[in-house]
Amino acid sequence: MTSVQSKPAMAEPVARDTFDSLDPATDEVVGTYPIHTDDDVRAAVERAREAAAWWAGLGFAERAERLRRWKGYLTRRIAQLAEVVHAETGKPHSDAMVEIIPAIDHLAWAAKHARKVLGEQKRPSGMLMSNQRATVEYQPLGVIGVIGPWNYPVFTPMGSIIYALAAGNAVVFKPSEYTPGVGKWLVDSFAEVVPEHPVLQLVTGYGATGSALCRSGVDKVAFTGSPATGRKIMAACAETLTPVLIEAGGKDALLVDADADLEAAADAAVWGGMSNAGQTCVGVERVYVHERVYDDFVAKVVETAKSVRAGSDPAAKIGPITMPAQLEVIRRHIADALARGGRALVGGAEAVGDRYVQPTVLVDVPEDSEAVREETFGPTLTIAKVRDMDEAVAKANDTRYGLGASVFAKKRGMELARRLRSGMTAVNSVIAFAAIPSLPFGGIGESGFGRIHGPEGLREFARPKAIARQRFRPPMVLTSFSRTAQTDARVAKLITLLHGKRT
Ligand code: NAD
Repeated sequence: MTSVQSKPAMAEPVARDTFDSLDPATDEVVGTYPIHTDDDVRAAVERAREAAAWWAGLGFAERAERLRRWKGYLTRRIAQLAEVVHAETGKPHSDAMVEIIPAIDHLAWAAKHARKVLGEQKRPSGMLMSNQRATVEYQPLGVIGVIGPWNYPVFTPMGSIIYALAAGNAVVFKPSEYTPGVGKWLVDSFAEVVPEHPVLQLVTGYGATGSALCRSGVDKVAFTGSPATGRKIMAACAETLTPVLIEAGGKDALLVDADADLEAAADAAVWGGMSNAGQTCVGVERVYVHERVYDDFVAKVVETAKSVRAGSDPAAKIGPITMPAQLEVIRRHIADALARGGRALVGGAEAVGDRYVQPTVLVDVPEDSEAVREETFGPTLTIAKVRDMDEAVAKANDTRYGLGASVFAKKRGMELARRLRSGMTAVNSVIAFAAIPSLPFGGIGESGFGRIHGPEGLREFARPKAIARQRFRPPMVLTSFSRTAQTDARVAKLITLLHGKRT
């Protein structure tokens, strides 16, 4: 396994058991990691408390400097990190690069903007309180527990880690049990540029280690994973009133209007649905197409999808299914779609193998089938014909998820984007919002709540602190028992003048 050979980010706790990380293409062991216990996790959080005080005390400029150094370090070793991602997820190098590059851009953005977004801001104090100087500043929460998934083991947890660090917090990171090596690489690389204190620490293990992190006394848990685990996280965090950020799954729709650029829409649908073998939270899973362009669009999608193949050779555009249990879900969704009258124009039941799933394009699938309602997380698309874009919006919104979405349209792009019930929508492209650091990222409904990225992502890991500083004694003091009836009368007159007008 490739790893940064450097000082460990923390004194390695004594762990009772270990687990192996496997290459999903071969089942070869690529690394062995400790299963950290409740005590290990608590000890890491205690160490993080001291590190957090030091890190917060550095201030915005010094932290930004360290984060910029980390950015340079990651950028210079991008190929090495891509190799670790490839070994643990099976995704091709190019897919690994697609997630690392925007993560680096987020790091640059957060380092540059943290002071502006979180530093002291003056607020108007209003006429009644004009003797006060009013300010708000966003202080770090302390220690953040980050629990990550395997599908984008760099981009996804870094969306929380970067913004939490830039806001002045220490982080204890529990990567997925499928990608602990990527987690270790990231944590070790940070220790190279911030060697003084364990500001970013790693704990590894299965769900129980994540659960221990929820109960460890951290100041917030930032979780990315399935809605089912999200519920368990919330329940565990409820015991200690620990706030949570939930970035969960999706069933994202792509809408194609009659005036859309069909070539671009088809290309985007296939890439959005099949890249990373469809294991993308904001991947395209459902497509709704205006009846006037449906046949042309479907023909283009079929042609493009046929050029995509899953495999482990360099010519294969997509890799294996990283988590073996997901194969059964994909198989079930395709079988259900076909059993209920759907047709596979590319792929189909036989597309699901032991490790790989070949691209599958399904049409005529009933809207209440599993392939349309549940997250498939495989290289599959359902395409449905709609009479008009009102029907497309209604069908796209008829889901308990609400993460991302895409619209291909010339005239009505923005209008349709606004009407989609999702946290983010791309117009005339797919997933673009995720790579724009200033835009907040997150879902609604079962896709979760809270935001990473952008100013909202920085504030997610900070608490607003309001300060009112009296500049001079007011002519009318209300907040004193020494106030007179005359003062009350004057104030009553003033408030009537200010707000008593009939409208
Ligand atoms: P998962 O829910 O199985 O696991 C996620 C993490 O939670 C892992 O680290 C796991 O060990 C940990 N965990 C499991 N049980 C736990 C418990 N009881 N307490 C605490 N932690 C626990 O998800 P996954 O299979 O790793 O990831 C795939 C899912 O993640 C998909 O649903 C995908 O859509 C979603 N996802 C969402 C986003 C987003 O930004 N919204 C991004 C990537 C992935």
